[in-house]
Amino acid sequence: MNVGSTTATLESAWGDYRRRRNSLVAAIVSWTALIPLVVLSPDTSIIGQYWWVIALPIFVWVGVASLRITLWRCPRCHDLYFTRGIWFGNLFISRCYHCALPKWSTSASEPRGA
Ligand SMILES: [Zn+2]
Repeated sequence: MNVGSTTATLESAWGDYRRRRNSLVAAIVSWTALIPLVVLSPDTSIIGQYWWVIALPIFVWVGVASLRITLWRCPRCHDLYFTRGIWFGNLFISRCYHCALPKWSTSASEPRGA
């Protein structure tokens, strides 16, 4: 466990986490918005015929964003923050599974919001 992490290093790591989280949220929102667009579009329209041209990159985006946030490492212990082992994980957990570092905390301050 690397306890000597500086505040700037931790803040940089949380910034990286924030970007990954926002990318995943944007991908899920895009995917969710695409479904009614495809369902409500007539089959003769361009979206009705070629919906998969839009859906495929968004689907890949959701997969990549999910993988990136799952593989995000804890800034203190450098282990995977949201997963324990291969089969157990939770993206909504508020503490590192391995060192219990609270989300958004820095070495010099208490946990704070996003
Ligand atoms: Zn940790």
